[in-house]
Amino acid sequence: MDRCLKCKSIKLEPTTINETRTVSGIRLSAPLPGTKCLVCGQISYNLTSVRNYELGVALVLVNYGHHDAESLRFITAALDLNRKMLASAIGFTESDIIGWERDGASIPKAAIDSIKKLILEQNHKTNESE
Ligand SMILES: [Zn+2]
Repeated sequence: MDRCLKCKSIKLEPTTINETRTVSGIRLSAPLPGTKCLVCGQISYNLTSVRNYELGVALVLVNYGHHDAESLRFITAALDLNRKMLASAIGFTESDIIGWERDGASIPKAAIDSIKKLILEQNHKTNESE
């Protein structure tokens, strides 16, 4: 059974948290499911839904062609990877990614497709582990 992170009470009720992220000037918000403690008022996120939300934001960034440094960093973090891991996962090198961060227009289509695929796979995994 879930417990409050703060006071360990089990008196939790479902609530909705409006989460907003701004990445590369794009503002995205979504209502996320969470819980509210009836004893101390602590609000907790459902971590799976936060992860999927971040992956969803990452997918929007990729689909809309936002491949600047900020977007790439957000996407890498949403995938729970570092730059080096992302590079090897999509068959490129870390210095390729550093180059894309400097010049988003230089990112090859193959890399974008691989990143998109990674995001979709991760999203699936997160759903399954619940
Ligand atoms: Zn509490």
